Amino acid sequence: MQSSKHAESGVSVGSPYAAALQSGASNGPFSPELEAEYIADRLLSNRTLIRMACLLAVLATLFRAAENTLAGAWTATPVGGWTPVLFGLVTCASLLLVWLAWRPALERRYLPVAQVIVPVRNVILAVLVVGIAVRGQLELLMILPLLVIGPFYFLGLQFRAALISVLLTVIAVAASSFFFELPVEVFRRTCVFLLLTVVACAIAARALERLSRRSFLESRLIAEMAQCDALTGTNNRRVFDEQFARLWRQATDDQRPLAIALIDVDHFKAYNDHYGHQAGDRTLQRVAQALQEFVSRPLDVLARYGGEEFGVILYDVEEGEALALADRMRRAVASLAIEHRSSQTESSVTISIGVAFVRPSNERRSRGALQLADEALYVAKVGGRNRVELKGGEEYEGLVTGVFSRSPFAGQP
Ligand code: GH3
Ligand code: MG
Ligand code: MG
Repeated sequence: MQSSKHAESGVSVGSPYAAALQSGASNGPFSPELEAEYIADRLLSNRTLIRMACLLAVLATLFRAAENTLAGAWTATPVGGWTPVLFGLVTCASLLLVWLAWRPALERRYLPVAQVIVPVRNVILAVLVVGIAVRGQLELLMILPLLVIGPFYFLGLQFRAALISVLLTVIAVAASSFFFELPVEVFRRTCVFLLLTVVACAIAARALERLSRRSFLESRLIAEMAQCDALTGTNNRRVFDEQFARLWRQATDDQRPLAIALIDVDHFKAYNDHYGHQAGDRTLQRVAQALQEFVSRPLDVLARYGGEEFGVILYDVEEGEALALADRMRRAVASLAIEHRSSQTESSVTISIGVAFVRPSNERRSRGALQLADEALYVAKVGGRNRVELKGGEEYEGLVTGVFSRSPFAGQP
């Protein structure tokens, strides 16, 4: 959620998704980090399909093994006594794929193994199918296209890995047809049919992969934009509200304290009036960037709260730590030394910070904490600006607006 890459400037500049879309990288592999994200996303959305395909492969192999046993045909192939061994290998490989596909960490374990196992299993299957076919069961050759379609569409492999698997399978079909002396006419028809399937599948799979890469980038970019403030690149108010509600619940459950800081740029209207709105925009970006440096822990949140105000949520910090961090933020903005001639208090851009330090509980309401931070900010403003004020302890008991204690009759948060 909290993303330092956003803080550099607006979302479209810092976004890896926008960069990949603009550079036309949606055709090929992305940068390693983005590629890993894409593959994880794809595996997750195809999880059911992959699991079902792996399961069907096991069932089909077991069905064929049962047929062989009933017909006493285990050794009636050119590979003779090796037939049950090869069947066993294919079954084990398929079972391994099923097991990996059913594990929660699908993307981490399944894909690297599937990239090796699928081609090996398909090559063995191709040899077995041709071997059984030459002994009279020519209709079995009809299942060969499945060894092409599976890797491209059902087993979650990327295009290149699927193509390698399919080409190895075609080579295995050709080689075993030659060694097992499949009738030339049958061999010719099988090869033509198989190669046509490969070409059609490869073309469609390539086009589909491009489409899926592009829609992955676009959907991630849209999700990013929905969370991002377009000017400063920080989280927007919606994210702040959502995260605040979530962290409030978590802090209540874990009995951890929260610090909420409201940060306001001093005399910013006068800054705009003097230097122009565009200069004001650039200053807001620089302030956001400076603040982001201090909000790096996974649960902490920085967001543009509105106008020239920012909100920070610090999870599980002590009162002294929150105060010290807020003061470092204040000093960091002052040390940017952005000239502000029309400020009534300083000669450069400064911020005032109001911090609420609270211990959330079921009897307390989150909006009371925000009100407390707002009151602290007000005190900082009245006290001369370019300063930090903290309210905590029992001060919130006296709140009149945004009441902190939950009324026994009111159900609101
Ligand atoms: P104080 O020290 O009391 O906070 O004074 P202030 O002038 O900062 O407060 P006030 O609320 O009167 O003014 C806020 C100004 O912030 C007014 C508005 O033009 C400016 N502002 C809000 N959003 C933006 C923005 O996105 N870009 C720019 N350039 N200015 C903005
Ligand atoms: Mg303001
Ligand atoms: Mg202001």
